[in-house]
Amino acid sequence: MSLSTVRRAEAELLLPTYDRHPVLFTRGRGVYLWDAKGKKYLDLLSGIGVNALGHGHPAIRSVLTRQAGRLIHTSNLFFHEFQAELAKQLTKLSGLDRAFFSNSGTEAWEGALKLARAYAHAQNSTGNNAKWRFLALDNSFHGRTFGSLATTGQPKYREPFAPMLPGVSFVGLNDLDDLKWKFDSSVCAICLETVQGEGGISPVSPEFLRLARELTRNNDALLILDEIQCGLGRTGRYFAYQHHDVVPDVVTVAKPLAAGLPLGALLTTHKVATCMHPGMHGTTFGGGPLTCAVAVEFVKQMKALLPHVQNVGNYFQEQLVELKKKHPAVREVRGLGLMLAVELDDADAAKSVVRKMLEEGIIINRTHDTVLRFLPPYIVEKKHVDQAVQALDRVLAAVLRQGVSRKEREPEEAIPDEVALAHA
Ligand code: PLP
Repeated sequence: MSLSTVRRAEAELLLPTYDRHPVLFTRGRGVYLWDAKGKKYLDLLSGIGVNALGHGHPAIRSVLTRQAGRLIHTSNLFFHEFQAELAKQLTKLSGLDRAFFSNSGTEAWEGALKLARAYAHAQNSTGNNAKWRFLALDNSFHGRTFGSLATTGQPKYREPFAPMLPGVSFVGLNDLDDLKWKFDSSVCAICLETVQGEGGISPVSPEFLRLARELTRNNDALLILDEIQCGLGRTGRYFAYQHHDVVPDVVTVAKPLAAGLPLGALLTTHKVATCMHPGMHGTTFGGGPLTCAVAVEFVKQMKALLPHVQNVGNYFQEQLVELKKKHPAVREVRGLGLMLAVELDDADAAKSVVRKMLEEGIIINRTHDTVLRFLPPYIVEKKHVDQAVQALDRVLAAVLRQGVSRKEREPEEAIPDEVALAHA
């Protein structure tokens, strides 16, 4: 089937929520994808941080086919072999005690918000919920369901769906005074991404994280970290908070967890988990035998890849810093491990760079208007980094030399806007 046939059919049949790149992928292997015409692409986005082991990883294929032949779904009315095994691995790596499995990132985040309210409710003997407010951060992104939207600090995502869940206040990223000013005894949780993803790859500062930990601990509120994008090895540690001396009460993970299959999780302490009882929360699909069996294998593979992620991530960042010296339009290079960003000073230029990189056969994306985002698979090697950085060098030079002409601003093929595409 051709791109134009699929495109026409989708235009008539789907909700117009996505403004896709004009590429039809048909297969992938390792760090590469191929389109329907046979063109090869270096995938430095991994399906927005999901395909962390690349495409068609042999160990994942083997577990997937074996388990698909045995048992795919049971519902959570019954036991299967893999939820406890996966929970054992994740709790051990995170320093937490309990897990709940969902289908997606946003559902893991919804579960975390519900946990904060349930915990506050359980602490309050009067049954009158005095602790009910959430503090979240400007520029954050937590997903598309209502609780996640309500705690997402970007009005463009919330406004079409107003009114939101009440009781959420937003604090400036790394603004210690703002956090102190807005925190009081009515707050049930401080919620934040350890490294903001869709907001432009911005890490939380150690001081801010420590203050959030101190305020919540001293007031019996929860510190909830969203590591759906930055967790599970992406930054070179199992969890991004492990770069700091802080352990949260709840952490959410998803994207890479089942190596491309939909699976999310929240991890929490024994103390917080005791506020939940059968029937208070649940899911039909979440944590099924197929996704959990694959996730157990992902965790095993991820552990072995951590030194490689650190090593190639550092190398990638160094190369991007070198590139910045050559191109004055690059405002900043930032990130941790294999979660990297190049911020340009012009949104139209960033759009053009993503499109020209795609023409060169290299997949990256743009977020927060001016930020080029790199979320390569953990198996990426230095030679792929070199290929990408050389291409980026050429593309930046071409885009900035041409300036952003009117044609670039309004190309024939629509350039996906990050509102539709970011999906974080
Ligand atoms: N939280 C963060 C930090 C994300 O990057 C995303 C991803 O889009 C989400 C939550 C929502 O995850 P999902 O799209 O799986 O619902």
